[in-house]
Amino acid sequence: MAQQKNEQTHQPSLWRRYLDFPLIWKLTIALVLGIVAGLIFGPDISIIEPLGQIFINLLMMLVMPLILFTLVAGVASVSPKTIGRIGGKTLLYYMVTTAFAMVIGIGLALLISPGTGLDLPSDAEADEAEAPPLAEVLVDIVPDNIFGALAEGQVLAVMFFALVAGVALAYMQDSSDERLSSIAADIRRFVDGGVELVFIIIRGVLQYSPIGVFALIAVVVGETGTDALLPLLTLTGTVYAGIAIQILVYVGLLALFRAPVVRFFREAKEPMLTAFVTRSSGGTLPVSTQAAERLGVRRGVYSFTLPLGATVNMDGTAIYVGAATVFVANVTGTELSLTQLVTVAAVGVLASIGTAGVPGAGLIMLTMAVTAAGLPMAPVALVAGIDAILDMGRTMNNVTGDLAGTRIIAKTEPGMLVDPDNPPEGPDDPEDTAPGGGQEPQGEQAPTSASEPTVDDDVDRT
Ligand code: ASP
Repeated sequence: MAQQKNEQTHQPSLWRRYLDFPLIWKLTIALVLGIVAGLIFGPDISIIEPLGQIFINLLMMLVMPLILFTLVAGVASVSPKTIGRIGGKTLLYYMVTTAFAMVIGIGLALLISPGTGLDLPSDAEADEAEAPPLAEVLVDIVPDNIFGALAEGQVLAVMFFALVAGVALAYMQDSSDERLSSIAADIRRFVDGGVELVFIIIRGVLQYSPIGVFALIAVVVGETGTDALLPLLTLTGTVYAGIAIQILVYVGLLALFRAPVVRFFREAKEPMLTAFVTRSSGGTLPVSTQAAERLGVRRGVYSFTLPLGATVNMDGTAIYVGAATVFVANVTGTELSLTQLVTVAAVGVLASIGTAGVPGAGLIMLTMAVTAAGLPMAPVALVAGIDAILDMGRTMNNVTGDLAGTRIIAKTEPGMLVDPDNPPEGPDDPEDTAPGGGQEPQGEQAPTSASEPTVDDDVDRT
């Protein structure tokens, strides 16, 4: 009897087998099954929408604590000088790649000419929208109430607070006043603990992700249907071709900075797929963070570049805005002047700064670009009908761009990239002796997640 029981316990349970099955395969199977279910059941499949919404909520629930904890810990582990340098480089990199993406989107659309000859249904209607003034975007970066900013999910405002708190913590850590430095050590342990806590929760959420992926993709396919998609196939093809070119641009950039491209995509595939189905770069942050850890990028870099990228770096969205504006012009038989094209590009790049990485944000940016170019709004309603399909691709592109940028920026900063399979012990910012540099707590913080098997352990070790 006892022997029989013993044999039974050696059989891995169904749950254990589920956990041991590589995550990426679970996600791929869920994606394929979801597409099939959407095609078979059509709009009726919406009944399972809550399962997908639960997945998005689980991710969103982690975003604000993740940004707050990782950024305070990340900033406190490097000097303000290093953070300033990383910030400057990151912003420049993101602006340049987004402007480039915009050129790809407009260029491809001018070449392929989607929308020409398409009839506009007479009931097509869309509202105008204007980009918020840059001054307003800048003012909103500084929160008047940090709890309000956290509650409303304002990424840039929360980042601002976390940056300030991280710098203050670094200053306290480095203080010669023993009372201050000992309090700083306690705060630091709390913040590091917060990071690990969030990481462990992400690990759990990822085990739910196949169900979320299945439900989300099934609902999009079921609701969009082929009727809406077919007349807009050229626009869809143009946007996806632009995204493919942009991904090749990342391959080129990664190769230029001597990053192992295959390894990069091996680690990036989970956030790419998550972004594809959730259509939210903000919501994908917990998954991208894990990928950055597995790529060996230190917290001092990714805690800043990833949330910033989720809000300001939208290469896929730029391709879409460029291509869809040309589509709108074609449908209405308007020839776009160079000034209009430049206006569209400028609005697209600037609007991406103030627009959060949430589903459908690109559609709002499109209305801003169309309004700024003085084009009729009606064709935007056509695009809105298939926005979910386009949003999936552009969000995947956005997240890949954030991760590629993060990997490249880390490469350009001394000590910010470690061998992910063999992380060294030591501070985040070895070149530095300024506040926060080389203190005892940094040594504790940086390698924890990179060296100790946290999320990636149960996830997909391929
Ligand atoms: N959904 C996209 C994102 O989260 C933004 C967009 O709608 O283009 O990055």
